[in-house]
Formats: sequence, C-alpha cells, structure tokens
Amino acid sequence: MTDAEDTDEFVLVAYDEDGNEIPDDTDPFSGLKEDEEGSLDLTFGEHQYRRMEYDSNDRFAIYKLMAHFREDIVREGMIFCAGAGALGNEVLKNFALLGVGNLWFCDFDDIDASNLAKSVLFRPRDIGRAKVEVAAERLKDMDPDMTLVPLSADIRFGIGMGVFRRMDVLCSVVDSIDARVGFNRIAAALGKPWLDAGIGELSWRVTCWDPPGGPCFECTMDNAMRYQQHLPYAPSCAPMAEAIREMQRQPTSPLAAAMSGAMMAQEALKLLHDVKMETPPEQLEMPHGVQYYFGGGDPYLEAQVRRPTPDCEGHDFWGEVTEVREFTAERTTVRELLQKGADLLEVDLNKVSLRIGYDLVVEKYCHQCGTRTEYIKPQRARDLDLSCPNCDNEARPDYKRALRVFDKKFIDRPLADLGFPKLQIFLLYGGKGRIAVELTGDEAEVMGGG
Ligand SMILES: [Zn+2]
Ligand SMILES: [Zn+2]
Repeated sequence: MTDAEDTDEFVLVAYDEDGNEIPDDTDPFSGLKEDEEGSLDLTFGEHQYRRMEYDSNDRFAIYKLMAHFREDIVREGMIFCAGAGALGNEVLKNFALLGVGNLWFCDFDDIDASNLAKSVLFRPRDIGRAKVEVAAERLKDMDPDMTLVPLSADIRFGIGMGVFRRMDVLCSVVDSIDARVGFNRIAAALGKPWLDAGIGELSWRVTCWDPPGGPCFECTMDNAMRYQQHLPYAPSCAPMAEAIREMQRQPTSPLAAAMSGAMMAQEALKLLHDVKMETPPEQLEMPHGVQYYFGGGDPYLEAQVRRPTPDCEGHDFWGEVTEVREFTAERTTVRELLQKGADLLEVDLNKVSLRIGYDLVVEKYCHQCGTRTEYIKPQRARDLDLSCPNCDNEARPDYKRALRVFDKKFIDRPLADLGFPKLQIFLLYGGKGRIAVELTGDEAEVMGGG
C-alpha cells in the first residue's frame, strides 16, 4: 500500500482478550512449537493473527491474500473449459472471481429445471436457453473486463485445434467418456497437460492428465469404460437411447460440484503459472499425473499417483505445427492442403493422405427406396440423422477416415464444405513422414484482435 490517504484503505487489526491491539510487527510464526518430526503446531494463539491490509477499491486486492498467484499472469491467461453444467458453472464462476482474462468454454445443452439446484449461474427464468449463452451473461456481469467466448460446439469436430493450441490451460468438466477421450487426444497431439474432473453424490476427483510425459486419461480406462465410450451418440431406437442415458446418468450434487470446482480452478491457476513463468514459485508446482480423490462418506482426500500404461494410444504428439497464413477453412480446397503436404514432405501428391481422425459420414444410402444422399457429418455427432430424406426409413452411412487426391468428389471443394472448422490443424501423411498443418489464415477471425 503506497498511497493510503487517497485510497479507501481497509486495515484489519487483531485484538487480544483484553481489547489491546496486537502489534503487527511480530513474526506470525514466532512462538510456534515444532514437534519431533519438524511439523509446526498451528494451534491458534494470540501471536498468530495475521495483519491484512488491502485497498477496498481494488477489485483484485484478493491477490494480496493469495500471495503465490500473480494478478498480471491471471489477467493475461487464456483458459479453455469444456462443459458448462453443474461443475462447469463452479469452475467458470471461480475463474470470473479470480479475474481470468480470457475464458473460452463450450457446451451443447439448454437449461432445464433440474439444472437449477446444481448450477450457481442459472435462474428459473433461464429455462430453455443455452447454457453457454446464460453463463456468458452472468460471468460478464461478474467481471465486465473478461473476454468470454461461449461456443455451442463439439470439442472434437467443431472447434479448430488451433484454438486449443493457443490456450494456456485446458480444462474439461464433461461427463461422457467419449468426450474425455477426444479431449485427451487433442491435448496429446499438442503436447499439453489437461485438467479433468468428475463428481458423484458425495465424492469427486480432479486430475491433471499428462499425455506428453505421464499418465493420460486413456491409461486408466478399463473395458467397461471402453464399452461405454463406444455407445452410439444418436441411437436409432428410443428404448436404447433411454438405456444409455440411464447408464450415463450420475448422481451429482452442488456440494461435490463446488468442492471439485474449487480444486480444479486452483490447479488451473497453478498450471497457468507453470506455463507463463520460467520459474514458478515452488508452492505452485504442478503435480502432473496426480489425481485428487475426495471420498465424502467418511471424508478423506488423497493424492493418487497414476502411472502411464505401456502401449497406451493416448499419447500421440503431432510435433511442430506448420502455420500456413494463406490457408483458411472456407477458401482452401482439399487439393491445396494435400499439395502443401506433398511439398513439405517432399513426396508426390498422390502419396499424401489427410487423416480425418474420426469417422466422417459423407453419404447415406437407403435400401428401401434406393435414394443416395450426400450427408456430411461426423458419425459421432450428436445431431447425426440417418433417416432417408425420401422415405424416412433408416439409411446406411458411407464414411471416410482419410482423404486423398483420388477422392474426386471432394478434392476441389473447400475444407469447410466437409465440416472442418476454422483454424483447424490437419495431420498429413506421405512417404515415411507426417506433418501437422494449420489453417492459420483463420487466426484473426477466430481468436479476435484481427
Ligand atoms: Zn495413456
Ligand atoms: Zn428411402
């Protein structure tokens, strides 16, 4: 505090039992006893009152109380949060309170009545509105200086990988195994750790997965999880849809969400400092690969060290990304992208293939009436609709996993025609090599400031 006269300075002073002010020049830790193991006895005594001063006009005076975190780093931070449900609400709310400068988040769902008892940002009048839209309004209200980017998009197909590449911290609070695997693959491709959380009725867990060097989410998957992962997103019959919903439904409470949301926000700030500082304070050391598990019945918190599983497929790092400033999703064709790969990999154009990374439905064929319809959508998209436009029977999808120069139907069309998002990063294979190429021409439009 430098200018106490001009600011509305707030000073907390501690008094002893007789009403005498406890001077603040005492070492707060003097008089504390150590036991034989060297631990301090922190039983509260009159010497341990901490004198706290802060400027009540300063919104982020909080950083004087959380001395390990730096306001400038948090204000410049770029954080992505996948999911804006009960837990997402808590995490996003904490980021707004802490003054995170740039917050990107995504979710598909609309608000229903059952969300109101679990989600701090939602009100009864919001029922029927998109979660991300309402969350953005409330967060903006909390901190008008934040840059907020709410997205109704799937992390795997709808958001360019270049977005994640530009983030300092990746967080996921999604509840599906499939989306977690998708996020794990994105983080691995870019060589980044990511934070994941899950909540139950009383218990919760927060994990920092570390595909670049430690255990990843997929290292811990068992067969039951793999089975759940492969359940279809858009099951064709109603009883199956209901059964799947029942299987994936988890009891969650606002209490578990609040606790794990707080832990996740704290770990996210640590990760942010880890990324931004050459030598972060040792108190902020990131426990990559550690899972915090809170068992709430007979309460305990433990840090579980997960180990990488040999041969796990969740660690595929794409290497350095080649930025191509003249490429955009809407103007660059599949052929131009493949040609770029051929040039970079120094192979013939017909040797290059673009790995899509998921099953992309490109056509549906109806056996009932013989209708063939172009239909471009990832097979695991939520709104996949395989009904025949002519007779409404279910049609058979034809899909692609890779594109090559021989795919005459698509080769001269812009990448956006195939549903690829702006600022996407593509992995191109050719000869013995492969290379990651980004549609960097979309950067200004997607990231803003251009
Ligand atoms: Zn793994
Ligand atoms: Zn038909």
